[in-house]
This record gives sequence, C-alpha cells and structure tokens, in this order.
Amino acid sequence: MILGGVGRIVAANELRRLVHSEHRIVLIERNRQHTFAPSFLWLMTGDRRPEEISRDVQQLVHKRVELLHGEVRGIDLAAHCVETSAGSVTYDLLIAVPPHRSPLVVRGAGLANQAGWVPIDSATLATKGESVYAIGDITAIPLLGRWKSDVPLMLPKAGVFAHAQALVVARGIADRIAGKAASHKFSGEGYCMLEAGEHLAGFASGQFLAEPSPQIKLRQIGRSWHFGKVLFEKWWLAAPGAKKKSLRLLMELGAKALRVPALI
Ligand SMILES: Cc1cc2nc3c(=O)[nH]c(=O)nc-3n(C[C@H](O)[C@H](O)[C@H](O)COP(=O)(O)OP(=O)(O)OC[C@H]3O[C@@H](n4cnc5c(N)ncnc54)[C@H](O)[C@@H]3O)c2cc1C
Repeated sequence: MILGGVGRIVAANELRRLVHSEHRIVLIERNRQHTFAPSFLWLMTGDRRPEEISRDVQQLVHKRVELLHGEVRGIDLAAHCVETSAGSVTYDLLIAVPPHRSPLVVRGAGLANQAGWVPIDSATLATKGESVYAIGDITAIPLLGRWKSDVPLMLPKAGVFAHAQALVVARGIADRIAGKAASHKFSGEGYCMLEAGEHLAGFASGQFLAEPSPQIKLRQIGRSWHFGKVLFEKWWLAAPGAKKKSLRLLMELGAKALRVPALI
C-alpha cells in the first residue's frame, strides 16, 4: 500500500513493473488531479495553461495499480491497517508520502520525531514501523556538515529525492518478495534545473550523502538544461506506454551526452 504524492506515482509504477501480478498494489490519494509543481513557474510567465500541467492521477499510474480515492485518517501500525474516508484497508507493506508539513496522521501513528519529520534508515528508507517505509518530503535525513563540519545539515525536500527514494523502496520490496537481499540503496544524488527565462537554465547537481561533506556542482547556464526540464515535464505527464518510453530514452541519451545523471 502506498500513500500520496510524487514519490507514490514512481513507487507504484516501479513496483507494478517489478512484482508478479498476484501482488496487489493499492495507492491511496485524496486528489483526483495531479499537478506537476516544477512547471508552476511557467504558469506565472504564461508559458503553460493549468490544464497543460495537470493530469488525472489515474492516467499517470499503471492500469493494474489500484487507485483508492480517499483521505487518510489514521494509520494503525500494529494492525497493519489504514483508516480512510473510503473505509479501512489492511496492508502487508506501507509507503507513506505526506505533504510539506508534518501531517497529523503520521504523527498520530508515532512515526515522526519531535520536530514532526520521519527518521528513516537513509539507505533503505525503512521507518521504525514494521514494514513501513517513508519517502519524500516527510523524511528527515541528516547530512554531514558542509559549511561548518560540526553543524549537520538536512537533506533538502525536493521531488528529485522523492523520486529516487521511491525507486529504492519499490526495488527493495520486489527483492524482498523474490527472497533476495536488497540490491539498491539511496545514494543522496540529486539535481535541479534553475530556470532563467529566455529558454535558458542552469543546472545544479550534487552528492548530498558524500563524505566528508555534501558535494554540489553548478553548470554553465545554457539552453540544454531548459530543454531537459521541458523533456522531463513531458515524460512525467505522459501516461504509461510507448510515448513515455520514447521520452525516457531521449532523456537518458541527453543525460549521457551532457554527462549528468538521469535519475529516472
Ligand atoms: C512550486 C514548486 C516547484 C517545485 N519545483 C521542484 C523542482 O523543480 N524539482 C524538484 O525536485 N522538486 C520541486 N518541488 C518540490 C517537489 O514538488 C516536492 O519535493 C515533491 O512533490 C515531494 O514529493 P512527495 O511525494 O514527498 O509529496 P507530495 O508530492 O507533496 O505529495 C503528498 C501527497 O499526499 C497526499 N495526502 C496528504 N495527506 C493525505 C491524507 N491524509 N490522505 C490522503 N492523501 C493525503 C496529498 O494529496 C499529495 O498528493 C517544487 C515544489 C513546488 C511547490
């Protein structure tokens, strides 16, 4: 069972790709529409209309992922059960992905620390709840100090991390079902296109879990990064199928040519 967000779409589709169809994948989401947040700035500049950057959630997930529309009201870790406005649902494995603040439902389940964020094993994304994983903005991942070695940092909250973490968790669950040791761990690698207008963008990327401190690199501003972001937007908003596969291939080739990670 997977709860809400950018991370959830990635995790649900990756799990559906990896595990046998006898395993049910249930995704709980209260919104019927998903909007691609990185394109919000193009709404402000008039380069996009709202309908161009929104899709029905159903369209973005594999058709053999069960989508349950409902508000999550409580998580009972002991009973492996999630209470929703559409009824209660039991789970074998749970991935929770709530929004930018600490949601009551997660704090109520006893998953969060005092600050309200969910501490996890940064390699596997496992929480202290049995068979419960947390990915995305809700997680608290401490980093080594960069500016002052004795002042630790926290991993920034960004879709690129929610995405990478979702793939790690989905692949870890598939390994577990297949009776294998986990073959992937979260590396803390991430990037961001920094839009500058006039079809130009910069590109910042980094190894956030690097030792002795996070390593961040900025590339020269240029058109390629802007077109990379447009390509990512088209890929993200495409329904699973041939078009999505072609856009993915294009992105992988582009990333290779520009010597940057694709992380998709
Ligand atoms: C304007 C803007 C621009 C951004 N640009 C970038 C960018 O360029 N690159 C980048 O990497 N990141 C970007 N981000 C950040 C990125 O959008 C977030 O980091 C990412 O969405 C986090 O993903 P998530 O899966 O953790 O949670 P979210 O995507 O926030 O999803 C949380 C989900 O949980 C659901 N939910 C919450 N409570 C309940 C409940 N009780 N019951 C049922 N469902 C519930 C919500 O409906 C929502 O769908 C941007 C954010 C904004 C706002």
